[in-house]
Amino acid sequence: MSDLAEEKRRSKSNLLILLLRLKGWVSATRSMASKTPVGFIGLGNMGNPMAKNLMKHGYPLIIYDVFPDACKEFQDAGEQVVSSPADVAEKADRIITMLPTSINAIEAYSGANGILKKVKKGSLLIDSSTIDPAISKELAKEAEKMGAVFMDAPVSGGVGAARSGNLTFMVGGVEDEFAAAQELLGCMGSNVVYCGAVGTGQAAKICNNMLLAISMIGTAETMNLGIRLGLDPKLLAKILNMSSGRCWSSDSYNPVPGVMDGVPSANNYQGGFGTTLMAKDLGLAQDSATSTKSPILLGSQAHQIYRMMCAKGYSKKDFSSVFQFLREEETF
Ligand code: NAD
Repeated sequence: MSDLAEEKRRSKSNLLILLLRLKGWVSATRSMASKTPVGFIGLGNMGNPMAKNLMKHGYPLIIYDVFPDACKEFQDAGEQVVSSPADVAEKADRIITMLPTSINAIEAYSGANGILKKVKKGSLLIDSSTIDPAISKELAKEAEKMGAVFMDAPVSGGVGAARSGNLTFMVGGVEDEFAAAQELLGCMGSNVVYCGAVGTGQAAKICNNMLLAISMIGTAETMNLGIRLGLDPKLLAKILNMSSGRCWSSDSYNPVPGVMDGVPSANNYQGGFGTTLMAKDLGLAQDSATSTKSPILLGSQAHQIYRMMCAKGYSKKDFSSVFQFLREEETF
């Protein structure tokens, strides 16, 4: 390419960048200030490793959790710990929340000392908790009134993926803001997928977890039946995994102790994704099915099974413990 042609190409692309910045100028200014502090609220099983990955990428953090012990290691590492979500919002214009349920998210955003009490205009608020899509939409409206942008970005992948920075984020919200969200989410995940308007990230997450619950129960039932028919569990899993019954629950997260290493079933169902959280997600699927008049026959059954497990002492175990739950049942 001649010098003149190269010069023309460069000025054309500079003009394009300028136009893009003008179109979404809030995102551009935020991203220019990329190493300004990021707020992080909810440092539990998932939030802890996610926040650490932001630290690894050089972002200073402003931290808050209702359970002060959850903040201690961040304080020891020199990050700033504050005493309410409102204080986080006062000090950071990009905030990530990773909370258990819709009620906790409402408290953190709209409570007496919530983020929205002191949020700065132009702030970007990203909620990675799995909550009701209707609540995400409500929080987005409230944020908009304060001149801030709210996006839902729930995750798939579990604690292992949170540690290795390989989560999948399903993002809903204003498309012009996606690049600004991606800058942060990309430090914690290997897939950051834009799903559409606010609430659609939650919709994708709820659908995935309903299918996961159904396939996990199916795998557990199948393995239990096969074992009672006299099959060796490892052999049965091998056959399923080379046949049409194969699924993630059978080949990557098998619920039968002794079939795989490095999964919760190999460790008395400790760690992983709790039965209570799965029951909560299936409740969200149930509510969404009612509001959209969608038949979810198996999803409803899965919801009842996980609720029963919670009532029968499985609430703190990984959701693959449905195998143990079924194993203890004998029918005539
Ligand atoms: P967790 O219970 O381990 O952690 C949540 C943290 O939030 C706790 O430290 C708690 O003290 C804090 N918290 C609660 N209410 C608060 C409030 N109002 N203000 C500030 N802090 C508050 O939960 P988790 O396993 O980290 O899950 C978080 C979310 O991610 C849930 O919605 C869950 O469904 C979802 N999720 C979890 C997994 C998993 O494998 N654990 C996988 C994918 C998605």
